[in-house]
Amino acid sequence: MRWGVALLVGLVVVALLSLRVRPEEAPGRAEATMERARALHAHHDRVEQALRASLAAIDPELLAGLDRQPPPSRPAGYQVLPELGESATRSGAPAKPRVAAYSWPWTDTRIGWAEEELAALERRVAALPDIGAERRREEAGQIVLAFGGARGSLATVDAHVGYNALWQREIAANRAGYDRETDRMAAIVAGRAPGGDGRPPSPAPFVRLEHPAPHRWVVRLPLETDILDPAFLDAVREGVESRWHVVHGEDEYLLRIDLRRRSPAELHAGTAGGPPRPGEAIDTSAHCARFSQGAGKLTTGAGFLHVAPGSCILLGPEAITVHVLAHEVGHLLGFPDVYVRGYRDLGRDGFEVLEIAAVPDDIMGSPGDGPVTRRHFEPLVDVLGKR
Ligand SMILES: [Zn+2]
Repeated sequence: MRWGVALLVGLVVVALLSLRVRPEEAPGRAEATMERARALHAHHDRVEQALRASLAAIDPELLAGLDRQPPPSRPAGYQVLPELGESATRSGAPAKPRVAAYSWPWTDTRIGWAEEELAALERRVAALPDIGAERRREEAGQIVLAFGGARGSLATVDAHVGYNALWQREIAANRAGYDRETDRMAAIVAGRAPGGDGRPPSPAPFVRLEHPAPHRWVVRLPLETDILDPAFLDAVREGVESRWHVVHGEDEYLLRIDLRRRSPAELHAGTAGGPPRPGEAIDTSAHCARFSQGAGKLTTGAGFLHVAPGSCILLGPEAITVHVLAHEVGHLLGFPDVYVRGYRDLGRDGFEVLEIAAVPDDIMGSPGDGPVTRRHFEPLVDVLGKR
């Protein structure tokens, strides 16, 4: 494992020190992979239909088993909420930066794997009638389990497609900024620079500080939302507040989220046709702009969880954890990512998006499991206290 990481880090250093040329425009590169992903979905649907027909004939009980397998990924859309999964628990301190790389060619490779997995399942489904009756049910049960794996692969492909669609566009739109980040990344990997930049946080203007008692500081974040599910909102508010809670000696620091419900009808008052239908694709930046300026926003409709301009947390359809949402709230409190995102130029294939978790013991450096500490609250209270 350690050798694997060392090799990966080494490869990234070599990669970062090599090519830095402007890419030729590669029109349709994203579309080419998205087309393969759509073909994969169609193939997946065909195999599922064939499997369902076989299972219905062999034992309808197995159909129920198929429906219990992880569901395929859902398309993005208005009011589409992600499942809130368990937060990762950390075993031991990860000391070294982790490197992850995403690209259209790598997504193509994963699509190829998923296609092979499906083709193998397709052959097994087709062979079911040739198997003796007593072994047929057992084999059908095994295929149902394997189909759950194929669904997982499909979800992974969709996540890669969404991720590339977002970051390839961002990098193309801000090459100079990402060139600087790529240099910073090379320095961090080579051990020449720390990850955090030590600058104070710059919280959104509507974030307020209360100091109701000695040694007790309450950071208040107003957050508007048009999400309709009260249980989801409670889980988010309670989960995020519990992660942004630090006790250090006599000092206690808390975050309080003042959730303000906005009804979809009111947000879209005066628009022809009224609010979007649940599941409808929406223009997320136009949607974020419908909320008031004096609060953060939590809303739906994105392909992938991220914070958009205007302190707008946009949810996608894929499962997330409350911990990752607490990381996104950290952005509203004025903390930048301390993981570094750079890139390698792949010419006509676009960019290889590279990421390093520069400071693993920091929620802003490790969104999945990094902690909130007084290193966050102390400068935040300092900045807010001077307002
Ligand atoms: Zn972030």
